[in-house]
Amino acid sequence: MATESQPSGDRTDSISQRHRETAADVIPPNLKLYIGGDWVPSSAGETFETRDPTTGETLATVQAGTREDIDRAVEAAWTAYDETWSDYSAAERQRVLEEIAARVEENREAFARLETLDNGKPISEARIDMELVADHFRYFAGATRVNGGETIPSGDGQHVQTLREPYGVVGQIIPWNFPLLMAAWKLGPALAAGNCSVLKPAEETPLTVLKLMNEIDDVLPDGVVNVVTGFGPDAGEPLAKHPDIRKIAFTGSTEVGKQVMTQAAEHVHDITLELGGKSPLIIYPDADLEKAVATTITAIFYNTGECCSAGSRLFVHSDIKDEFVEALASTAEDLTVDDPLLEETTLGPKVTEEQAERTLEYIEEARDAGADFLAGGDVPDDEALAEGSFVSPTLIDDIDHDNRAVQEEIFGPVQEVFEWTDYDAMIELANDVDYGLAAGIITNDITKAYETAKDVEAGNVWINQYNAFPAGMPFGGYKQSGIGREVGYEALAEHYTQTKTINLALE
Ligand code: NAP
Ligand code: MG
Repeated sequence: MATESQPSGDRTDSISQRHRETAADVIPPNLKLYIGGDWVPSSAGETFETRDPTTGETLATVQAGTREDIDRAVEAAWTAYDETWSDYSAAERQRVLEEIAARVEENREAFARLETLDNGKPISEARIDMELVADHFRYFAGATRVNGGETIPSGDGQHVQTLREPYGVVGQIIPWNFPLLMAAWKLGPALAAGNCSVLKPAEETPLTVLKLMNEIDDVLPDGVVNVVTGFGPDAGEPLAKHPDIRKIAFTGSTEVGKQVMTQAAEHVHDITLELGGKSPLIIYPDADLEKAVATTITAIFYNTGECCSAGSRLFVHSDIKDEFVEALASTAEDLTVDDPLLEETTLGPKVTEEQAERTLEYIEEARDAGADFLAGGDVPDDEALAEGSFVSPTLIDDIDHDNRAVQEEIFGPVQEVFEWTDYDAMIELANDVDYGLAAGIITNDITKAYETAKDVEAGNVWINQYNAFPAGMPFGGYKQSGIGREVGYEALAEHYTQTKTINLALE
């Protein structure tokens, strides 16, 4: 709930002032394209603005990169690979990655504030992002040293050995929901394995990736990482289609992921896709009510619901449903929806006005179908937030599982609630979506938890917790939620190296 002590006009002014002052402190000096270690304008001379979703004001003007810029960046990356990076030993790459982690830690508060300005996530959550960013770089620093091949028993006269070699240059396209964290998920394994990268941030949130390059310019040899800001069709597509990259990694919507897969096919690039989700959270009747409510709040409202893994379909057992949803609705209504730069805020604006409208359209569709709203279902009634793209925390009951709002990813603070009694019928429904990214199970019965974990079609299952992402935990989707895994050694070994088999005759 909003702070009611100040009149809304004064609060609007103080929010604007806080955001302008913070922007002046944390926006980095260099905002152009970062190619070959230099800050350069877009070759087309075009720019675009990134906005603050809390105030609606322009935060910064950045470059709109094009095909020509992608060409320049890929060329710079190959030069860096051939002339310097491929000569770096694993130990040297480890030191570089450790230094990147250290720079993020040293500037953690400024990175967190900048992420909150550009994306709208609560500052307390942005700080967690930055801890994870540093930790993922540090994890991959260590992983450089264990990236090796195998010796394969091959009978008399043959010595068969595999090497895991880097691709050379990879392309990486990232989304706006965890801008710097998704960059770390991609750059960590790419650099650890010995690749150079051309990375395209999401147009909505380019600033923290640009700040990272400002902070680590002296850590990386020129051209090892190149950042081309811009729009998907102008900069993303030429990257995925580029004949000289060897692999493309994409995180974003399933719709665009399918297009990227087609683009990558042109030159048979290796591909990893981290796509959308519509994940079930399953509550057993023995669940501790208070803990289960807290976990459910994290599952759906963390990062304003803009989590690919969000537990957006709740399956609660009929024995506890009434009591559970009553407690859940009152906790949801008590979330602090306010300026995300305030320490106490637990729900910020959506990343853009357009995304807020998209969420509200799904809500309307559920309302038109006669669904019951246990909480929210609209925008907050608070004048001071009127310029921001806020949506109230929303819980929807009595909705058909075939409704579009249930089948499709809303990517906002909206959860649909279902009651279950029969286990098999519940699992069938839980699996009845095109996605298969994540699932959550809450019970004190470890046997049931394990059975359910095996029965759900999901790449990641959390038991008695939700949205926990420690470094080292492979993450990715079943079904239309993606291909391949990110995070952890599997990402490095399976997705950022190619296997070379050498067979030596011994006789
Ligand atoms: P998006 O629209 O799919 O965009 C993702 C990225 O792809 C952006 O950088 C975008 O550029 C670029 N892009 C757009 N059109 C393209 C094209 N034709 N060719 C190449 N690249 C193109 O998704 P989003 O709105 O950024 O993010 C929300 C979605 O991402 C959600 O559906 C969510 O589930 C998913 N997601 C998944 C994961 C995961 O790990 N599985 C993580 C985070 C998000 P622009 O900047 O121009 O849009
Ligand atoms: Mg923005």
